[in-house]
Amino acid sequence: MINTKDSIKKIFENLCEDDYKTIADFHLHTTASDGKIPANQLLEQARKKGLKYFSICDHNTFDGYKLINLQDYPELITGIEFDCWYRGIFLHLLAYGTDINSEDLMPFLAKNKLETEKDIIRFFARRNVKDLIKAIHNAGGIAILAHSACCWTINHEHFVKCMLDVGLDGLEVYYPYKRHRGIIKFHTIKSIKMIAEKYNLIKTGGTDTHGELI
Ligand SMILES: [Zn+2]
Ligand SMILES: [Zn+2]
Repeated sequence: MINTKDSIKKIFENLCEDDYKTIADFHLHTTASDGKIPANQLLEQARKKGLKYFSICDHNTFDGYKLINLQDYPELITGIEFDCWYRGIFLHLLAYGTDINSEDLMPFLAKNKLETEKDIIRFFARRNVKDLIKAIHNAGGIAILAHSACCWTINHEHFVKCMLDVGLDGLEVYYPYKRHRGIIKFHTIKSIKMIAEKYNLIKTGGTDTHGELI
């Protein structure tokens, strides 16, 4: 497991768009939330696929990590994807590199299985983004706005700027944007990348796979 903030930042800094098509995927779902494959099997598939860096980011839970031995995966960065609202916009916030047993994050974790898998339940999430990002930082991690181009924002740059005020560290730039579950795509990878670079934000990427990694 890669676990210091600096080493994680360095990895994200050194990866480019093509790497996310071949060796890196920091957005995988497992049966701990609404994915189809248990974490241990999915990570074996990730290795077989040739991924050099990866992360499980289940919705509001670290339960997937209970199925694996972190020491067995030196190429793994811990992750999670929180449902929350900010300034009237529903969003997904990724956290990377946190201690998965952090007391700071406990209040923000799912209270039951439905909060990890049912969109309609997750949509009513009541997490204060400022407090959540503070907890992510206290837990040793970084906070990233997930699939940024899917955000239902009119002026995305302004929205990102507002999120910087509450501690956001970066944007998930490299993402397949296949209108996953019919989500409306408001922005493009290019426009998100420009915002990330303008404000010197960390750029991450992942497939948001909910099934097999083959
Ligand atoms: Zn998401
Ligand atoms: Zn996701």
